Amino acid sequence: MNKPIRKAVVIGSGIMGSGIAAHLANVGIPCLLLDVTPAQLAAEEAAKGLTLEHPTVRNRLAAAAIAKLKKTNPAPLYDEAFADRITPGNLDDHLALIGEVDWVIEVVVENLQVKRELLSRVERYWKSGTIVSSNTSGISIDAMSAHCGEAFRQHFMGTHFFNPPRYMKLLEIVPGRDTSPELVSRMKAFCEQTLGKGVVLAKDTPNFVANRIGTYGLLATLREMEAGGFTVEEIDAVTGPAIGRPKSATFRTLDLVGIDTFVHVADNVYDNVADEAERAAFSASLALKSLVEKGWLGEKSGQGFYRKS
Ligand code: NAD
Repeated sequence: MNKPIRKAVVIGSGIMGSGIAAHLANVGIPCLLLDVTPAQLAAEEAAKGLTLEHPTVRNRLAAAAIAKLKKTNPAPLYDEAFADRITPGNLDDHLALIGEVDWVIEVVVENLQVKRELLSRVERYWKSGTIVSSNTSGISIDAMSAHCGEAFRQHFMGTHFFNPPRYMKLLEIVPGRDTSPELVSRMKAFCEQTLGKGVVLAKDTPNFVANRIGTYGLLATLREMEAGGFTVEEIDAVTGPAIGRPKSATFRTLDLVGIDTFVHVADNVYDNVADEAERAAFSASLALKSLVEKGWLGEKSGQGFYRKS
């Protein structure tokens, strides 16, 4: 169980996966950055008669992952001098490589079912000694791994990075019921010493600690805005730079996080706490849900509360 962490696989190349891979590269840890096959052929690929299985199409995913990584982690978040430390690829093609690394981190969409299915696939190639963690914002570590074998569950925990992963010092480590305390200590030391994080050990409760408080605050702000008839800009003016929080304006933050992800995170508490008053506080507003339905997901889709310039 005492393997040092020298090589990693990051699964999911979205906002956080690409940011975590960039941070690993910056500190000298080579990693594979994997994601699912693009759902559709581009028009020029279809015209050439290519299929989704063709290497050219699969390489498009890799190119897209790097483009996303550069877009969401502009210098100095990501140092291109270390670009060769990140190998992007297709999840289906490279799953077997999970057996060759020391740490696998799952960073896919905030959805219990998707994460459970992915963990089953990871477990097939996993070797004892390799830590597997999830970057979930608040889904239960035990629920995610309930169907996995005991040895796997001993190696599984939450490692919750904040956005952007290079600069946000906080990292929550969330042991599950069966996680080995020895591996938690090892991960804590690695995150502190190698990744430069300030680690908080959190319990496996809905949204852990930081997002339980953060989501509550954001939803309360939104309700105050609706009740008081304020605009998005007015609320951002009193929750951001003017009060000494240069990057914390409410709606700018939601655009950065991803409005779809935020709704999933709020729903996770709503669906998993028994107390009625607490549930009500975590009910995501219809305004947020209608933005998601329109595809206004924030910076990642080019439009959220603000249009990306
Ligand atoms: P995102 O929407 O930017 O990216 C999600 C990625 O998952 C996409 O690249 C998508 O192709 C991939 N994906 C979807 N289904 C998949 C599957 N079955 N297998 C493999 N890949 C799949 O999301 P994100 O913001 O990067 O969030 C990822 C995780 O990190 C979530 O659990 C989220 O709650 C958590 N998180 C997000 C933030 C944030 O600020 N956005 C902060 C901390 C934690």
